[in-house]
Amino acid sequence: MSGFFYNLGRQIGKNAVPTLRKTKWIWQGLSGDELEVLAAEESLGRTMARELRAISAGSNDAVLASELNAICQRLSACVRDNRRTFSCEILVGAEPSVTGLPGGYLFLTESMVDWCERQPEELAFLLGHEMAHIVRGHTWDRIINDAALKVVAAVSMRAGQLGSWFRREGAELLRNAHTRDQEFQADAFGARLAAAAGYESNGAVSLLERVGRHLTEGVDPGVYFASHPPLPERIARLRKVISAGSPRA
Ligand SMILES: [Zn+2]
Repeated sequence: MSGFFYNLGRQIGKNAVPTLRKTKWIWQGLSGDELEVLAAEESLGRTMARELRAISAGSNDAVLASELNAICQRLSACVRDNRRTFSCEILVGAEPSVTGLPGGYLFLTESMVDWCERQPEELAFLLGHEMAHIVRGHTWDRIINDAALKVVAAVSMRAGQLGSWFRREGAELLRNAHTRDQEFQADAFGARLAAAAGYESNGAVSLLERVGRHLTEGVDPGVYFASHPPLPERIARLRKVISAGSPRA
């Protein structure tokens, strides 16, 4: 499988390894308190975000950047855990994609903005969905629980072995390949968060329905949507969440 963030992930893994070795927290088991875990998450995310910026072209559209940051900050203000912060950056990319790195670093492609027809309520849902994966620890848990990593850590700390794990895992991580349950959780969280931040609640459904229409017209929506559960099931579940109202995310 190929894709925009997937290919970037392969390169990021290589570059992030020295920092991972230095921080050492992965194989020390993270027995620290919640604040230390948050700091470790932030440390990994910052490193990966730096690598992502270094190997990809950032958008020059300052108006779009400020629109998206405004959405990101409105959503962020409604996240219950106020120790978490989020930022949103736009990359030039022909494939619609969005990804959230540990520590709150969100990236989406200009193409994804086009797929949302620049509608704030649709972008709010997408960013909220990625925030859910971060807040609920979906990405982070996979990293620290990875059995292959534990084996590598137990027998050797050599960069080559850790590097091969991270290249594989980094790619997985950026492909958004979470479990179905985690994806449905993220959908519900994203829809509720967008509603709590004052966005019209139909954003999630209108985006996914448009993607569905493009699909039936033979337009390939790319790896991001393909890596998530089927659209009709997501839409049906989202309708239930929306009609049930919006307790705080
Ligand atoms: Zn997802």
